[in-house]
Amino acid sequence: MIEFDSVSKTYGPTRAVADVSFTVPDRSTTVLVGSSGSGKSTLLGMVNRMIEPSSGRVLVDGQDVAGVNPVRLRRSIGYVMQSGGLLPHRTILDNICVVPRLNGATKADARRRGRELMEVMGLDVSLERRYPAQLSGGQRQRVGVARALASDPSILLMDEPFSAVDPIVRRELQAEVRRLQRELGKTILFVTHDIDEAIALADDVVILHAGAIAQRGSPAELLTSPASDFVADFIGLTDGSRQLRLDDGRLVRDGTGRLLGKLQ
Ligand code: ADP
Repeated sequence: MIEFDSVSKTYGPTRAVADVSFTVPDRSTTVLVGSSGSGKSTLLGMVNRMIEPSSGRVLVDGQDVAGVNPVRLRRSIGYVMQSGGLLPHRTILDNICVVPRLNGATKADARRRGRELMEVMGLDVSLERRYPAQLSGGQRQRVGVARALASDPSILLMDEPFSAVDPIVRRELQAEVRRLQRELGKTILFVTHDIDEAIALADDVVILHAGAIAQRGSPAELLTSPASDFVADFIGLTDGSRQLRLDDGRLVRDGTGRLLGKLQ
């Protein structure tokens, strides 16, 4: 579980995050969504101490991360970034094995684990000797996710991981994340500026506006009870771009009939 307890962050005169509190429950996916500059990356970076809050606390499994060695913390939390962050002169398999090797796994064990993860992520083993530049953008992001999973972390942080891949591959990768979360029981904090991606992935969505929470709720709650005109606008309810319907007064579906969630 990840808990943000009244965290703020200021950079000189800029208030990047203003008194934000929310919890990411175990084995669920929370998506932070908002326009550029709304504070998403700043909040995500507080979890593994890439960014220190100006005030407030972040707790992981009840422990204030401020008291945890940053290097140990980062090796225990999976992190996937937009650029993939792969080492260009290492093979795919070596890239996936980086953290287990740093954590002291033998080369043979790390490689065995790396191959398993390639399979989990739908990467053909024939790719293991290639270099990142020889893969497609979507394959590179799969490698990025496999690498983040390599030390078997319970928490995955994902910072706009799919924004540079084309829409079809992006939907495939979103489906992979949902599957991983379900099958491996990971706790995922995912950042995106794309509300459709948030609705597709999230158990809980946190909509940020100028460093503060505009609304937090399940996709169904946001869509049926937006807390403000800002939220209604942001999720596309006011310009007709999102059609919704309720079945039995409980099941929220979009215009195509896809189930978005259930109201309590
Ligand atoms: P998002 O991820 O939603 O795009 P960020 O968390 O990156 O937003 O940034 C939130 C605000 O903080 C923005 O106004 C940004 O310009 C500012 N900011 C972020 N990092 C720094 C920094 N290192 N120095 C100064 N201002 C920063």
